[in-house]
Amino acid sequence: MSAVRLDGKACAADLEERLKQRIAACQVQPHLAVIIVGNDPASHVYVNNKIRSCERLGIRSTHIELPEDTEESVVADYIRSMNEQEDLHGILIQSPLPKHMDEESLTELINPHKDVDGFHPVNLGRLVQGRTDGMIPCTPSGVMEMLRWAEVDLTGKKAVVLGRSFNVGMPQALLLAARGADATVTVVHSRTKDAKAECLQADIIVAAVGRPEMVQVDWVKEGAIVVDVGINRVDDSTRERGWRLAGDVHPDVEAIASLLSPVPGGVGPMTVAMLMANTVTAAEFMSS
Ligand code: NAP
Repeated sequence: MSAVRLDGKACAADLEERLKQRIAACQVQPHLAVIIVGNDPASHVYVNNKIRSCERLGIRSTHIELPEDTEESVVADYIRSMNEQEDLHGILIQSPLPKHMDEESLTELINPHKDVDGFHPVNLGRLVQGRTDGMIPCTPSGVMEMLRWAEVDLTGKKAVVLGRSFNVGMPQALLLAARGADATVTVVHSRTKDAKAECLQADIIVAAVGRPEMVQVDWVKEGAIVVDVGINRVDDSTRERGWRLAGDVHPDVEAIASLLSPVPGGVGPMTVAMLMANTVTAAEFMSS
């Protein structure tokens, strides 16, 4: 068996077409603000992707770039002022913030209706309640959208989520187990006794550990669906730049899986597309 590619770029393009129609019908122009602090090169690439995506869709964007040594109170003031701004619908603080800042406290300052990352405790709490119509974290909701797009029936299937972070693994597990998706979910983390044995039982594996190519071909049951969330930079002297991107899943898994998302071109584009979707949802809600 050779896996069919779970093409995040194509799925994101389909979603963008639907978003364009919603934006055209929206009473206001959706407006997203992105705050980035410091010089982390990968974060700047991610923010530029988000801004470009806004431009493609006709979403207005405001891009606030602050130096590494900015005081936390300055970021807090920006958030408070953006909360009040009626023509601004989404606020995103690019992670990671410099070490001297408390990301959780800053996230809690964001008006939950404008929390397009879905990380505010109100939005994560709604997810625990099974309410999947609000601001849901973009990466796990992007995975769900890809699975819907590929017409995967999750009902009663055994899903294993590798990773239990608040931004990916835990919300992913909740979404897979939610009514309507109805998978039976196991969460694997760094204290799990035998991650390989758990994975071998899975019909669906979502890998979000940040460990390059951890999921090997002999971890996967024949015909399983494998979604690779990982983005890891690994040394590669054969490349001119000296590195390449690797997922959390070994590429050999292609030989045994039925569907496999690539890295890059899998979950990454979906994360950005879901951010756009959350921004449009926020604008629709605030203008209705
Ligand atoms: P994170 O906060 O570092 O969480 C990693 C999780 O993996 C933790 O729960 C950790 O367990 C678990 N883990 C680590 N080593 C493990 C091991 N050997 N066996 C089993 N579990 C292990 O990372 P994250 O933010 O969730 O991101 C995970 C990956 O996804 C990263 O590569 C990140 O770059 C990528 N990512 C991609 C996108 C995208 O758009 N494609 C978006 C977000 C993140 P403990 O809780 O026990 O420590």
